[in-house]
Amino acid sequence: MTHIFGRSTRGQLPTAVAGDGCYLIDASGKRYLDGSGGAAVSCLGHSNARVRAALHEQLDQVAFAHTGFFTSDPAERLADRLTAAAPEGIDRVYLVSGGSEAVEAAIKLARQYFMEIGQPQRHRVIARRQSYHGNTLGALATGGNEWRRAQFAPLLVETSHISPCYEYRGREEGETIDAYGLRVANELETEIERLGAESVMAFVAEPVVGATSGAVPAVKGYLKRIREICDKHGILLILDEVMCGMGRTGYLFACQEDGISPDMITIAKGLGAGYQPIGALLVQGKIYDAIAAGSGFFQHGHTYMGHAMAAAAANAVLSEIEENDLLARVRTQGEKLQAALEAEFGQHPHVGDIRGRGLFRGVEFVADRDTKDPFDPARKLNAKIKKNAFDAGLVCYPMGGTIDGVRGDHVLLAPPFVIEDAQIDELVSKLSGAVEKALA
Ligand code: PMP
Repeated sequence: MTHIFGRSTRGQLPTAVAGDGCYLIDASGKRYLDGSGGAAVSCLGHSNARVRAALHEQLDQVAFAHTGFFTSDPAERLADRLTAAAPEGIDRVYLVSGGSEAVEAAIKLARQYFMEIGQPQRHRVIARRQSYHGNTLGALATGGNEWRRAQFAPLLVETSHISPCYEYRGREEGETIDAYGLRVANELETEIERLGAESVMAFVAEPVVGATSGAVPAVKGYLKRIREICDKHGILLILDEVMCGMGRTGYLFACQEDGISPDMITIAKGLGAGYQPIGALLVQGKIYDAIAAGSGFFQHGHTYMGHAMAAAAANAVLSEIEENDLLARVRTQGEKLQAALEAEFGQHPHVGDIRGRGLFRGVEFVADRDTKDPFDPARKLNAKIKKNAFDAGLVCYPMGGTIDGVRGDHVLLAPPFVIEDAQIDELVSKLSGAVEKALA
């Protein structure tokens, strides 16, 4: 009997007892290749020596000192390093404990910013259908998955949703990628006009959509056009890089590949790499300055914000990325993973699309390659792939509801940045076995 409710259920799930690089080991000694880093979390793999040493060292000094009274060297250093590496203009960091907290802080900060600069009527958020931004009430209201939202409605933030940038399903025949990117970005303009620009405070989007859609990247030019539209209407652009940030795409911040600078960026997952729960909200100086000139402080906070142990872990993660040139490695290993997936599934009658950036890849399954019709959700293809893969010793992240929250199946792959060539082969071959068994 377990007293936990939620996900970890003794008797139904194996007990994880050890980690070794790209592998997790359960109590029976079975090894699992971590093909998704849990959910794009374990970017350095398991049991990383530098992070372990950093945590021991910090624990021997001080673990917790409330940020209402003290700051700490690890937190200060982390903020310096994140802002130095961030897109232009980002020079303040708000440290929290995870992705939802970072998104929640972004929404409240946007609201407070507009209050401070005398535009209190700006309260609406625009996001995209099929997006996931977290499970706390504000983050849930921001996300565009109807199925997740429905049972908690009415939600606290007034949000509306436009189309995602989803080339595989959105681009029309004969339409160039550039034209598609502009067309789908321009939906934001139409939506702002419909709502009235003076009532809108922010647009929120993931540069590469993770969990809900399986590593769907914005096409080239899309985010540039989004940036222009936000600027034209005085709306803040918030990029949610909780999943795709921290080097996952081969850039420390995914939006750096798109050549734009948002007003705020949320990160989490890979920041603590699973060693500590930590997230961060990075903001442009102009936002902080408006608050500093007004009420003087952000009316928001959490007990564990800026936790020294969490910041120590994140500093060690950044050092591993920098000193081992892991961003370049993500790009080369990511290309190899894409090539291996294409070799295995490129001609598969039930694989419609293989996509992503860096070590953030998605494979979308279809009943029919020509019509792109999805499988009947009742078939639970994604659940079967997950189980078959897990039985074979592979952790991957299959999801249903790819298209509209109900129809469509994909698997998300986000292995540790240290994945070796042989482990890429192992991942793809185990995934292939799991898919064939699920389709049989
Ligand atoms: N935003 C995105 C893009 C995410 O993928 C997630 C988590 N899957 C969150 C926010 C929420 O993060 P957390 O689960 O750490 O609260």
